[in-house]
Amino acid sequence: MASKFQAPRGTFDVLPEQARSRARLERAATTIFSRAGYEPIATPAFEDTALFERGVGKSTDIVRKEMFTFEDKGGRSLTLRPEGTASICRAYLEHGMHKLAQPVKLSYLGPFFRHERPQAGRYRQFHQLGAECIGADSPLADAEVIMLLSDLLAELGVPGVELRLGSLGSFEARRAYLDDLKAHLHDHEGELSQDVRERIDINPLRAFDSDDEGTRGVMATAPTIVGQLEGEDAEHFEEVRALLDAAGISYVVDSTLVRGLDYYTRTIFSFVCDQLGAQSEIGGGGRYDGLIEQLGGKPTPAVGFAAGIERILLALDEEVPAPGRDVFVAIADPEQRGQAMALAVELRGAGFSVEVDLAGRGLKGQLKHADRIGARQVLILEADGGAQLRDMKTGEQRAADTGKLVEEMTGGES
Ligand code: AMP
Repeated sequence: MASKFQAPRGTFDVLPEQARSRARLERAATTIFSRAGYEPIATPAFEDTALFERGVGKSTDIVRKEMFTFEDKGGRSLTLRPEGTASICRAYLEHGMHKLAQPVKLSYLGPFFRHERPQAGRYRQFHQLGAECIGADSPLADAEVIMLLSDLLAELGVPGVELRLGSLGSFEARRAYLDDLKAHLHDHEGELSQDVRERIDINPLRAFDSDDEGTRGVMATAPTIVGQLEGEDAEHFEEVRALLDAAGISYVVDSTLVRGLDYYTRTIFSFVCDQLGAQSEIGGGGRYDGLIEQLGGKPTPAVGFAAGIERILLALDEEVPAPGRDVFVAIADPEQRGQAMALAVELRGAGFSVEVDLAGRGLKGQLKHADRIGARQVLILEADGGAQLRDMKTGEQRAADTGKLVEEMTGGES
C-alpha cells in the first residue's frame, strides 16, 4: 500500500540501484582529490544566514530568492547551505588555516539546498562535490582545479562535455568594466526585461544569463571583459590557457560567461554537457581573491570549483549491476540456522560477501533465492551433517569440509 507521505517537492530518494553509480562517482572523486593532495573537509549543513549574504552576495539569485532560511529557538537566523565555498572560507578563518603552509587544498562532497523551481537536473536538495585551493594566486592553481574536474569527468566517461573559460579580471579591472557595462545597459534600458533593468546597478553581469529576447539583443553588443583584460590580468589568463593547452585540455573562451555568485575575480569556468537539456551545466567555478577578506580575513587569493553530482549521474545515465554474493549458506533442516549463521560470520570475517536465509524458506526456496541475489556459490548444509558446495554457474557440486571453509572457498573458486 502506498504511503500517504511523499518525499518533499524538489527532493528525491536514492534507491539502492541508484546508489551504486553514485558510489562509483564518489570513489572516483575521492581518489582524484587525494592524489592531488586535496584533503577532505566537512562543514555543517546550516550556517549563520549572514555568512551567505556576505559570502555569496546579496544581489545574487541564491540569496535573493533561493535560501532555506529559518530562525532557531534562540532567535538566530540560520540558513541551509546553498553552496560550499563560503562555509569553507569561514572554516579556514575560524581554524587559523592561514597559519599553515599555503595553499591549503581542500575537497568536499555533500548535500546543498536551494529553493528553486524543480525540474530535471534541478532540485531543492542536491549534492555537490568540489575542491578549493586557498592561499595561491598562481595560474597553476587555477589550472590544477580545472584539471581535477576535467580528469574526473574523463575518468567517469561523461559524454559530450565542453569546458568554457573566461576571466573577470582583478577587482579593479572588474569594477571599471562593470561601469562600462552599466552605461551600456542604461543606454538600452527600454529594451531590457524588468528583472535585468532592476538590477543594472547591483548585478549587471547577470544580464548575460538572461533568456529574454530584448535583453539578449542588448547583450549581443555589450562590451566584454575578456576583450579588455590588461597587464597582470591578461598575463594570468594567458598562463592559465597555456597550462591547459600543455595538459591537452580543450576549452572555448567564452567572453559572456558569468557565474551565479558575486565573489569571482579573474578566472571563471564552466563545464557543460550536451546530454543534459536546459540544466546543462555540470560544474564550474573560478578564482575568488576577495572572499576571505570579505569574511573578515586578510586578503587571500583562492580558486575552486563545485560540480553537481545529480547532473553528472544524469549525463552518465548508467546502470551499475548489483554486485552479487560470493556465497549463500543454505540449510536442509531449520535446526541448522545457528550453524549457518556462524559459518556466514566466519566467511564474512575472511572478506567474502555472504548471506543466509532470513525468511524461513525450504531448501528449494533457498536455492532459488540464492540464484535471485546472484550468489556465485551455495554452501548446502545437509541434514546428515555433511556439506556440499555448489557452483551456481556450472551447477557442479562437491563435498565441502566446514572445518576448513575459508581454504575450501579460495581453492574451490572457478
Ligand atoms: P553553483 O554552486 O551554482 O556554481 O553550481 C555548481 C553546480 O552545482 C552546477 O553546475 C550544477 O551542476 C549543480 N547545481 C546547482 N544548483 C543545483 C540544483 N538546484 N539542483 C541540482 N544541481 C545543482
